[in-house]
Amino acid sequence: TATLGVLGGGQLGRMFVHAAQAMGYRCIVLDPDADSPAGAVAEKHIKADYLDSLGLAQLARDCDAITTEFENVPAVALETLANMRVVAPSGAAVAVCQDRAVEKAHFEAAGVPCAPHAVITNDIELAAVDPSLLPGILKTSRMGYDGKGQVRVSTPAELAAAWADLKRVPCVLEQLLPLRRELSVLVARGADGQVVNWPVQQNLHRGGILAVTEVPAPDVPAEVDRLAVAAARQVADALNYVGVLCIEFFWLTDGRLVVNEMAPRPHNSGHWTMNGCNVSQFELQVRALAGLPLPEPRQHSASVMLNLLGDLWFSEAGGPTPPAWDRVLALPGTHLHLYGKSDARHGRKMGHLNITADSPEAAHAVAQQAAAMLGLPTDF
Ligand code: ATP
Ligand code: MG
Ligand code: MG
Repeated sequence: TATLGVLGGGQLGRMFVHAAQAMGYRCIVLDPDADSPAGAVAEKHIKADYLDSLGLAQLARDCDAITTEFENVPAVALETLANMRVVAPSGAAVAVCQDRAVEKAHFEAAGVPCAPHAVITNDIELAAVDPSLLPGILKTSRMGYDGKGQVRVSTPAELAAAWADLKRVPCVLEQLLPLRRELSVLVARGADGQVVNWPVQQNLHRGGILAVTEVPAPDVPAEVDRLAVAAARQVADALNYVGVLCIEFFWLTDGRLVVNEMAPRPHNSGHWTMNGCNVSQFELQVRALAGLPLPEPRQHSASVMLNLLGDLWFSEAGGPTPPAWDRVLALPGTHLHLYGKSDARHGRKMGHLNITADSPEAAHAVAQQAAAMLGLPTDF
């Protein structure tokens, strides 16, 4: 049997491992955390740091092909592994996604518009910021996720104070845009350049964290749909990308579509594909890595995904307890996915609930009922 390796042991790695095992692969996960969700289900868990040369050597020795589930894995680790084994996506592609300034330059080079922005790495750039970018969001260029490392600022003084609070690390200031909706597109690209895509997804964030994804995205005009898919494919081609890639978009109140950011891996907004589509994002990540054909995804059910954050475990007084799932699972078309994380914390992604139905209206109605039962907001 062939063996696939994964850098990173979070829930994305776990769902990748499940998909790979279903296709007969053995999996090895490299992650320093002894309790990692993916390490617990893989055939082998190498508990080492991403830059540990012995760990990487062991992974290269025992695997035929290696991927990552974590976009902040050092790109040099992927490049080292690529000297010995098939690695997808490449360290170079992941490196672009790790730095917002580089990522935005890549979008512009690929002909895809993004938010007006300025790069801030020193006092001269700080002083030179065009006031038309305010109010804006100051974001650290590297390592941010789930809205971490972001500060909203309205005046030059607030901007200067926020940058000082962020320890003057390299940042990007983005103009705060009037969002109508947030959308994302997942593509899978093979080493031969073949690209397939899933339908446009609509995402609702709460507090910077994805909360709800709906597919099909309601009320998206055909032209916006076409632009989003074309932009995602263009970005993947320009990166010579291999694997599953997610592009996040802002659909603005004036009707324009701009790209927000991308993730070089399966994405939380694509979890609905596990139940609503003939092929999941994790299966295509396995196929792209293994050099197997990529079928065009076909959505067979209208879908809503509700993220299950650790907060739900604290809804009752006392210690953390999982919600009673039985009532929710009695609703039609509900599919529960839990990531095997033992310690629930506020804001921590513990699992997700997929709801599938024959029509978008029916999926939405059941999702509303499920959210109400779980004590989640029904603001979608
Ligand atoms: P992720 O977990 O998706 O990687 P992140 O920490 O990289 O998140 P972003 O995607 O940059 O964060 O921003 C998080 C959310 O904040 C966006 O989904 C959007 O709701 C809001 N946001 C970010 N930038 C802007 C902007 N320029 N204008 C308006 N809203 C924004
Ligand atoms: Mg991000
Ligand atoms: Mg984002």
